[in-house]
Amino acid sequence: MSRSDDPTAEVTDLLQQLIRNKCVNDGTVASGDELRSVDLLAGYLAGAGDHETYEPQPGRTSLVARIEGSDPTAPSLLLMGHTDVVPVNEEGWSRDPFAGDLVDGFVWGRGAVDMLNLTASQAVAFRRLADSGFKPRGTLIYLAVADEEALGTWGAHWLLDHERDAVYADYVLTESGGHQMPTPNGPRLPVLVAEKGTYWTKIRVHGTPGHGSQPYRTDNALVTAAEVVRRISEYRPQAQIHDAWKLFVAGMGFDDELTRMLLDPDQFDDALRDLPVGIARHFHACTHTTFSPNVAHGGTKTNVIPDKVELEVDIRTLPGQSGAHAAAMLREALGDLADVVEIDSNDDGSTGSPLDTPLWDSLARTTAQLCEGSALIPSLMVGGTDNRFYRRAGAVGYGFGLFSERVAYEDYAKMFHGNDERVDQESLRLSTMLWEAVARDLLA
Ligand SMILES: [Zn+2]
Repeated sequence: MSRSDDPTAEVTDLLQQLIRNKCVNDGTVASGDELRSVDLLAGYLAGAGDHETYEPQPGRTSLVARIEGSDPTAPSLLLMGHTDVVPVNEEGWSRDPFAGDLVDGFVWGRGAVDMLNLTASQAVAFRRLADSGFKPRGTLIYLAVADEEALGTWGAHWLLDHERDAVYADYVLTESGGHQMPTPNGPRLPVLVAEKGTYWTKIRVHGTPGHGSQPYRTDNALVTAAEVVRRISEYRPQAQIHDAWKLFVAGMGFDDELTRMLLDPDQFDDALRDLPVGIARHFHACTHTTFSPNVAHGGTKTNVIPDKVELEVDIRTLPGQSGAHAAAMLREALGDLADVVEIDSNDDGSTGSPLDTPLWDSLARTTAQLCEGSALIPSLMVGGTDNRFYRRAGAVGYGFGLFSERVAYEDYAKMFHGNDERVDQESLRLSTMLWEAVARDLLA
């Protein structure tokens, strides 16, 4: 097959098809149905390297394609993209979220930045390398993985537990990062070298049932739960100025005053006040254990005083922080109520990779060519990605991609799991060129 040197049209088309496949993962095992996008990608990659598929549950399929290296001792590289997306609220969208419309150079649709854009560009880079007769020393693997949006249970987690030889690599590139952050010294490109842990918590609040017509001096579980929620939302732990944050601030080259304030736990909150809200929210999450009460279930009937309410709180821990640390903070937030509620938490700790690695050096060399005047900065992912499974398995995993300056950070952050998700074609082209260049640089 003859292919154009410019991958833009090819990657745009593949992304549109992935969006239209609508592999919506609502957290249930019957959702996702990533098999459709695996079929699409298997067709697209036919004849390019070897590929295998794995299906731990009906329809929850992942695809692994590889170009075997000539030297089994040389380091290997995995390009990993998930094929599932989160549900949408169609009312909030200006266009059909699953039509994959191309408007003014932007592809619209659920998954356009999280992360079908990268899944598509990695596949196109892999195909271009295979077509060019790429014969690396180290093995190149492409993994289109299912179920990232529901803790990787039937995706990366399962594959590393059951098919490690097929999917493990020394170096891993997956979402997200790489959006251009303008500074006086040129754009900075965040590489997500670590991610926060989750400490998802259920709080069961008990009360005594009674008749809703006589509420005087009753023990109403919903009223107690409201106080629990209020205390959590008003809890203000201090900023933690950890190493990854110090490196990020140093790399951004802010003016002296802002730099000083962002490194001082006592002045940190004042520094946030003057920043745009999207950036302030991100900087806050990078430096704090966060507590967000997001679900409440309770009560049965208007005239019944409820005797139980269950709350779910999304707690995110920082690098170096244990579950015991998060538990102590939660008790501090709840005060005397900590002793009258039941707390049940699931600790999935923070993970990180070092910076002094061949993968970092390779990214630095290749991005300097693709994005003039730019420099990499290490950054903390405040959500979770499949990188955590690879880091725990011993790999170096970074979150990266490349975006053009048409994708402003404020918009980019809002589009993750939000409305009107879209990506421009120049970003798709840049990411494709990046994966190709890194594979050639690192595996040669
Ligand atoms: Zn994602």
